[in-house]
Amino acid sequence: MELVSGTSPWEATLPNPPEYDPLAGDEHCDCLIIGGGMGGAMAAYAMASRGADVTLIEKRKIGGGSSHANTGLLQIANDKSLTSCINTFGEERGVLFYRLCQKALQGILKLAGKLDIDPQIIERSSLLYASVPEDADMLRQEYRTLQRHGFTCEFWESDRIKALYGFAKPAAIYSPGDAETNPYRMVHGLIHKAHSLGARVYEHTRSRHFEYNSDGVVCYTEDGRIFAKNVIFAMGYETQEMKRDRGAELINTYAIMTKPLPALPKWHERSLIWETARPYLYFRTTPDGRIIAGGKDETLTSPERRDIRVPTQAKKLLQEVEALFPEVRGTEIEYAWGAVFGTTHDGLPYMGTHPDYPHCYFIEGYGGNGTVYSMIASELIADTLEGGIRPELELFSLTRSAKPAPAGTS
Ligand SMILES: Cc1cc2nc3c(=O)[nH]c(=O)nc-3n(C[C@H](O)[C@H](O)[C@H](O)COP(=O)(O)OP(=O)(O)OC[C@H]3O[C@@H](n4cnc5c(N)ncnc54)[C@H](O)[C@@H]3O)c2cc1C
Repeated sequence: MELVSGTSPWEATLPNPPEYDPLAGDEHCDCLIIGGGMGGAMAAYAMASRGADVTLIEKRKIGGGSSHANTGLLQIANDKSLTSCINTFGEERGVLFYRLCQKALQGILKLAGKLDIDPQIIERSSLLYASVPEDADMLRQEYRTLQRHGFTCEFWESDRIKALYGFAKPAAIYSPGDAETNPYRMVHGLIHKAHSLGARVYEHTRSRHFEYNSDGVVCYTEDGRIFAKNVIFAMGYETQEMKRDRGAELINTYAIMTKPLPALPKWHERSLIWETARPYLYFRTTPDGRIIAGGKDETLTSPERRDIRVPTQAKKLLQEVEALFPEVRGTEIEYAWGAVFGTTHDGLPYMGTHPDYPHCYFIEGYGGNGTVYSMIASELIADTLEGGIRPELELFSLTRSAKPAPAGTS
């Protein structure tokens, strides 16, 4: 699958990334991780930090999949609001999901000082604004739900938003504790650290097929075999080519990064900005004074068609930036890209085991919070592989069907 069109900005920020030889020959490990994107990187780091015997293979280069299209927003709040999660999954499970995201974000913030390649993690607040006046009541309700369950946030009326940003929106929720990162540097930082802790890493090494035995799995690559007690599949959206998840949907999405601005517009605390409309637009700044904007999602097309769409969609994204911040008119786009993006019908990612794949775990962080989901998955799976019991995995089951909420929970 061709995952990315156009040029994403991140590779230029790490001109000489660590490189790893392809696998040639046979080897044994306790845990084989397939995929060197955000999911595989988080898993490799979690496992290697616990002293596990880990091998990771990546068929492209490390970070060469969707993770270098990632725009680096790290948020507790999700594509699906807490109120909506409670309505769909019930109060206990809906709140559990948000708490897991909060804990994962705190874990990501702690990574900043532990990696030798700086992932440029900066704590930020988020502004979620009402796209249309009718959404203001829904936001007020969401604010009350978040407050009731202990998630810190403020509800802002239009005058407060106007005073702090300059643009007019009917209402917003402002919440602390989120962050931005450079996803490519994060993936390399995590894998580099896992490697220095003993994990074996192979680039340009594709898993071809598998043999599932009673005591583990044999993974065949072009030039070798890996005998693993357990496998973690972290193949991103390409997992859908191996095993289709009925509730997963792939689409195209687009993003731009501007050239550095002489001065950023009025942008309160350089917050992450997004909106209630679906699909939504989102905006962030970078440490060197640029603006990133993303959205303009479309149905999945061929990669060739997506290549052609990048300039058009990029122009529309720049117009959205100018509509919010008229003072940046004349700013030029430096990078524009489009990519495959995965969502799920019920709004939760997939992680955990699958009955058809013994000794195997999957990390499928589908949705706009893929980095946070990768963190949740890697911790829950690493705990399980160490012999712990993590019932939270049931929430993200690969074979789930959304359970209706018990009466009275909405
Ligand atoms: C435009 C865009 C913006 C995004 N913005 C954000 C954001 O702001 N915040 C956020 O949290 N998330 C965001 N996401 C989602 C995020 O990119 C993903 O959730 C995450 O980075 C994907 O990581 P991954 O490891 O699952 O997949 P990938 O990065 O695709 O990694 C999977 C890897 O597996 C490898 N692989 C596949 N098959 C094999 C095989 N058979 N053998 C060996 N290797 C194999 C691939 O080459 C690939 O490198 C965004 C996505 C897009 C497209």
